[in-house]
Amino acid sequence: MPIPRSLRVEAVVIRHSDWGEADRLLTLYTREAGKIRAVAKGVRRLRSRKAGHLEPFTRVALMLARGRDLWIVTQAETVDSYPELGLDLQRTGYAAYVLELLDRFTYEEGQNRVLYQLLVDTLHHTATAEDPFIPVRYYDMRMLDVLGFRPQLFTCVACGEEIQPQDQYFSAAQGGVLCPRCGSLEMGAVKVSTNTLRYLRHYQRSSYAEAARAGVPVGVRTEMETILQGYMTYLLERGLNTPGFLREMRGEYPD
Ligand SMILES: [Zn+2]
Repeated sequence: MPIPRSLRVEAVVIRHSDWGEADRLLTLYTREAGKIRAVAKGVRRLRSRKAGHLEPFTRVALMLARGRDLWIVTQAETVDSYPELGLDLQRTGYAAYVLELLDRFTYEEGQNRVLYQLLVDTLHHTATAEDPFIPVRYYDMRMLDVLGFRPQLFTCVACGEEIQPQDQYFSAAQGGVLCPRCGSLEMGAVKVSTNTLRYLRHYQRSSYAEAARAGVPVGVRTEMETILQGYMTYLLERGLNTPGFLREMRGEYPD
């Protein structure tokens, strides 16, 4: 399919960097074309009308024109700037984490509407939820699903036996929980309490509204974060996010 000369998109600005004398290079996650990069010309000048719409975290409607190498932003209008994210350092930090995770797990490889919707829903909830921990951990869990790394939380990933209500282990390398017997033999497996496992399962199987209904106790928070982030870090370090791998996963041929 030929690349169109212009493109109307809705997008979230993931990050930007200075480009040339007065321009900015933007990394965008778009609803219509997935992750793309685009140049916003002249936005570092004081009088620029586009500038305010193109800050990270902003959800924007854009007109893009095809340049020689990159898309060029010709019009920009804010859809939602999530002002609450800027008022509270904890929310700002969570939102930065949400964008970084998306950035590190995705490539310029085309549309993924599910991921776009997850991103804008998560930014909205992170800005407005009473407890922003909940939408961020829910996002972790959904990201793993969308990317094809849904952790196994119901049967032991080593022996296949059903997990009993007792303290278990979680293995990032195996992608799920291990029963106490197998877990004690697995290097790098971390302990996971019955209570934390209950929350992880609940987030895996529920809508956001259902997940948001239950408050999360302090001890569970730390464990959830350790397990989910440990798993993400493991996947990123193994380079499992390479485009070739993602294509293989979808049954396409690597380069
Ligand atoms: Zn086992």
